[in-house]
Amino acid sequence: MGIAMSLEENLNLINETLDSNGIKLRESADVLLARLSERLIATNELVNLTSIDTPEGVALLHFADSLTLLPYLEPGETLLDVGSGAGFPALPIAIAMPDVRVTALDATQKKIAFAADAAVDLGLRNFSALCGRAEELGAGPPYRERYDVVTARAVGKLNILCELCLPFVRVGGRFIAMKSLSAAEEIAQARQALTETGGEIAENITLTLQGEDEELTRNLIIIQKIAPTPKIYPRRYSQITKNPL
Ligand code: SAH
Repeated sequence: MGIAMSLEENLNLINETLDSNGIKLRESADVLLARLSERLIATNELVNLTSIDTPEGVALLHFADSLTLLPYLEPGETLLDVGSGAGFPALPIAIAMPDVRVTALDATQKKIAFAADAAVDLGLRNFSALCGRAEELGAGPPYRERYDVVTARAVGKLNILCELCLPFVRVGGRFIAMKSLSAAEEIAQARQALTETGGEIAENITLTLQGEDEELTRNLIIIQKIAPTPKIYPRRYSQITKNPL
């Protein structure tokens, strides 16, 4: 369990971590992040939400990592985070950008309940949480082809993500897949899935996440939605995984 860190110490840690990664936040967003960190770590001792459960881990791997998305989002956009788990990257984005309307979607009730409760506690009015399966909710109204931006971190391989995530994106919008090292390989394997689901790689941004004594490579794969996704997608989950595009 380690030695408990005061809110003040945690706040300093978060600010140092964001500073070393060149991430600037609006005033008082850091305090909200510190409260979220405390709540996540405390809840995680009772309910298994995430394997990242130290203040240092949360600051770097949940907060700084999630916030690498900031330069690629615009005020006023709607964002759906597929497979958000306990709310990553959805919650840090909602905290940092109050004018982006963020929805977190996950199939696991206890995780989505954590995100929803945390958002209420933090007073976030631009955040909502949705419990369900992406392949079911993406099949029709009110969620299909309705978001400006869809994100996914640590949910699956890119070819599978195209089928799960692109149905939610409006034509002209984008899907941003957050990946660590495997980006180039996954892009190569996703050619068919992209063509079939209406996506086109716009950009692959490689960046470095700077920890106290480690440097981690990250990729943001930005996929533009150039055509509507055919109605046959998404298929049932067993089909998506057994017979990926
Ligand atoms: N994005 C979070 C959680 C990653 S774990 C983070 O980076 O911390 C992957 C999550 O995706 C799990 O919580 C799992 O419940 C969810 N998930 C996987 N497949 C899904 C699907 N088809 N529909 C909805 N959620 C899904």
